[in-house]
Amino acid sequence: MKLDILAVGSHPDDVELSCSATLAKEISRGKKVGILDLTRGELGTRGTAEIREKEAADAAKILGVSMRENLEFSDGFFTNNVAHQLEIIKVLRRYKPELVLCNAIDDRHIDHGKGAKLVADACFLSGLRKIETIFNGNSQHAWRPKNVFHYIQWKNLTPDVVVDVTGFMDKKMESVKAYRSQFWDEESKEPETPISSSNFFDSITYRARDLGRLVNVEYAEGFNVNRHVAVDSLFDLI
Ligand SMILES: [Zn+2]
Repeated sequence: MKLDILAVGSHPDDVELSCSATLAKEISRGKKVGILDLTRGELGTRGTAEIREKEAADAAKILGVSMRENLEFSDGFFTNNVAHQLEIIKVLRRYKPELVLCNAIDDRHIDHGKGAKLVADACFLSGLRKIETIFNGNSQHAWRPKNVFHYIQWKNLTPDVVVDVTGFMDKKMESVKAYRSQFWDEESKEPETPISSSNFFDSITYRARDLGRLVNVEYAEGFNVNRHVAVDSLFDLI
């Protein structure tokens, strides 16, 4: 299967919180989208790896993605090294995404910045044909995504690119709510965390609304890039 977009998160729920409205919009236009989780989020204060696996599968169904896989790297401790890069390269060469969306370059959780660099490095290395990888007994061809976008998550980073996601926030919130163990739930007996407050839950909508306000649409999601974004004509931006 070939993908148009592969969205990668260090933890299950990173993608839903940060760029799922963008994904839902592209899926509605017929694009093929997949999600790759680097860890099972086993160090998360609330829930368990098993619960989060089920929640991630529910969220994937809600968004209508074509695949979701988990590389089971060690939550909190994975590093940007050859072994981890090769695992991601194998996925990139299998699904050949045109675009990769991945974690924020700088964020509160240490795995986010780490995951951002690891995935961006793997996207570059995947294009080098002398790096040999094998999948199902077959050697894989080199593949480099055309661009890598870093979605914005916890911190209010200044975006380089903003996507109008008006009309897709309901789908986004439905996918976020699939993570019942993680977010605001008045009945929950689990310990409170920075992401379990009602303010955090509301912030997903009000931050998208505020970003939308700045670009004159109702809701928006923002991204950072490592490379300048180019357009054919400035008129493409009006
Ligand atoms: Zn995370």
